[in-house]
Amino acid sequence: MLRQPLLALSRSAAVRELVSTLPVSSGIVRSYVPGETTEAAVAAATGLVDEGLKVTLDYLGEDTTEHAQADATVQAYVDLLGQLSARGLARHAEVSVKLTAIGLALRTSAQGSAGPSSTHQVALENARTICRAARNAGTTVTLDAEDHTTTDATLAVLRDLRKDFPETGAVLQAYLHRTEADCRELAHEGSRVRLCKGAYDEPEEVAYQSRLDVDTAYVRCLKILMAGQGYPMVATHDPRMVEIASSLASRHGREQGTYEFQMLYGIRPEEQRRLAASGETVRVYLPYGGEWYGYLVRRLAERPQNLTFFLRSLISKK
Ligand SMILES: Cc1cc2nc3c(=O)[nH]c(=O)nc-3n(C[C@H](O)[C@H](O)[C@H](O)COP(=O)(O)OP(=O)(O)OC[C@H]3O[C@@H](n4cnc5c(N)ncnc54)[C@H](O)[C@@H]3O)c2cc1C
Repeated sequence: MLRQPLLALSRSAAVRELVSTLPVSSGIVRSYVPGETTEAAVAAATGLVDEGLKVTLDYLGEDTTEHAQADATVQAYVDLLGQLSARGLARHAEVSVKLTAIGLALRTSAQGSAGPSSTHQVALENARTICRAARNAGTTVTLDAEDHTTTDATLAVLRDLRKDFPETGAVLQAYLHRTEADCRELAHEGSRVRLCKGAYDEPEEVAYQSRLDVDTAYVRCLKILMAGQGYPMVATHDPRMVEIASSLASRHGREQGTYEFQMLYGIRPEEQRRLAASGETVRVYLPYGGEWYGYLVRRLAERPQNLTFFLRSLISKK
């Protein structure tokens, strides 16, 4: 019930400024984000891989309005992919990218800078650079899903990107009314599709609002993906969804390894290990970097019980 007010409050500049004064080492931030640097991210990824898990790394950042910042983000991914390759981790670790961090949200100005088609072009070229680095390293890229105003643009970039990099993963959010149709379109051979419930504050015109409606939509989408020819990536911590995904996989004769489970760093780690020990492919989404504010707020909004912990961190700055 607190989810929407929390997400709305998080858009206040004063709240952002206050929360951003927390060090990344503070308990609440560290529980979801292992560190700010490439070294910290690679160290955390190594630990997870040693335990038999796969990883997808996200260099945190979104809604980037400046070219220079988008370029810096692309470079951070290229450096990270070089490190993953050098450390022999690329077979187990891929990257997740938000297109608004690499050009889709560039400022449109009267001086003739980015408009909708040029933001598409910038995001596409930047995504191509990351995909090329990933392919050279021996791994893949998945394009994260952001708020619904970016869905069409993200899927358009995905379509163009897949002409050269068909291994690029898509993310679909079950809470959007449109997603069953998107699942049908993307459930083809070779298509990697991550299905999540959706983490943004969306209006009822475009998204289911109640937990029950979102959960039943998630199951309908799972059915389409599991029955299809693609590679479903079941991104949820919900025990019922995990169980339903497993039974749909066996109903469709899918062997372990023809789909995977994905969970976020720091959430239900014992379940991640239990599933991996049972032979399932389990990938942990590992975010890192200094721009953790938006990510942290979405995690708090999903689990308002964490608020007390969070407020305590804010008061003690630890
Ligand atoms: C790998 C991965 C990638 C994702 N990528 C995207 C994306 O690109 N775009 C997007 O919009 N969303 C993304 N999400 C977030 C997703 O949309 C949901 O907001 C989030 O996963 C919570 O939904 P749930 O399926 O876990 O179910 P819920 O019903 O929300 O949670 C089920 C159970 O999981 C545990 N849990 C859930 N959240 C938390 C938390 N924050 N802290 C502690 N415990 C928790 C609790 O035990 C809870 O009862 C991603 C999620 C995952 C796992």
